[in-house]
Amino acid sequence: MATDVVIIGGSLAGAACVRELTRLGVDAVAFEREVFPRPKVCGGFVSANAVDCLDRLGLLPAVREAGACTVDHAKIHSAGGELHIPFPRAGLGISRSALDHVVALGTAVQQGTGVQSVRSDADGFTVDTNRSRVRAKVIVDAAGKLSRFSRRLAVAEFGVQYFAEGTRGSALDFWFFHDGYGGAVTVEQARSNFCFLLSKEAIGRYPPRRDRLVTGPLAYEPVSPGSIRIGDAAGMIDPFCGEGIHHALDSGITAAHVIAGGLRNRRSHAEIAQAFNWQWQRRWSRKRLLLAIMRKAVRYPLAVRLALGFRADWFLRRLWATID
Ligand SMILES: Cc1cc2nc3c(=O)[nH]c(=O)nc-3n(C[C@H](O)[C@H](O)[C@H](O)COP(=O)(O)OP(=O)(O)OC[C@H]3O[C@@H](n4cnc5c(N)ncnc54)[C@H](O)[C@@H]3O)c2cc1C
Repeated sequence: MATDVVIIGGSLAGAACVRELTRLGVDAVAFEREVFPRPKVCGGFVSANAVDCLDRLGLLPAVREAGACTVDHAKIHSAGGELHIPFPRAGLGISRSALDHVVALGTAVQQGTGVQSVRSDADGFTVDTNRSRVRAKVIVDAAGKLSRFSRRLAVAEFGVQYFAEGTRGSALDFWFFHDGYGGAVTVEQARSNFCFLLSKEAIGRYPPRRDRLVTGPLAYEPVSPGSIRIGDAAGMIDPFCGEGIHHALDSGITAAHVIAGGLRNRRSHAEIAQAFNWQWQRRWSRKRLLLAIMRKAVRYPLAVRLALGFRADWFLRRLWATID
């Protein structure tokens, strides 16, 4: 089999990319080793920017139909007090099993197909999966933070997630504590999605739950960029910022447009990768810098407590406006 584009991973970034490529008339396939719907560790918060991306993909009605709930403010709890911050624009709460299923549905995402190796030669790439061998002109890594196909710097932080009965209304609740931080949001079926970010050694200190999922290590910084990487494969955005889903969808859509233009103009893979990386830097480097500063700041409970004391809502609103 031969195709123009192979995408490794068919979750949010990969499915958005293959959806947009197909719409643009490009022959593309995304290989996803899992079968949707499947559980995934995530805070379940879809920011307003991510909602815009879903809208652009024509998926907003389906996402609402799948049970997404409106989230219009953050409630930050810490030993120093509690702060309510209305969002300038509302986001959504939805589990990743529901969201990823909707985004991949009806696209060229081949589920249950794991990519085992990728080899390049003068004419393109040979991709071996557990099912077949495919030739492609362009390869996109959308295999997430643990992707074997590109490198990131791992940190000793892990994500822990579970569901609980009852809802949080339209709030995104946040807690900061010594071992890390966590959040909860209402998701479909009137239940709450709880998610925490903890250091490796802290995980064992909390009582295990039967339905608890753990993921990690997390990886924020890409090493030696050059290939086409989208979503977490390009480096995670701190979960606290709630912009990872936005980054995954936006980078997937952006890559699709750059690749479609590159193939139309008979550009080489290296030229297309360079054009994509330039676009990605332009769209994301300033935001990522701001979000990385935020990530460092929330690791210090004292900083959070001081911020709450000084009515940090003004600062946070400004920050959100910048990210918008
Ligand atoms: C604890 C935690 C909480 C978070 N909370 C939020 C939040 O509330 N809001 C938010 O916006 N972001 C949040 N994020 C970030 C968000 O989850 C990610 O940014 C997002 O999942 C990235 O999507 P992706 O498609 O790039 O990667 P992933 O969703 O990780 O998908 C990668 C896919 O590639 C597949 N794959 C991997 N290897 C192969 C292979 N060899 N062959 C085929 N398929 C392969 C995997 O099965 C997987 O489905 C959170 C992250 C963590 C860790």
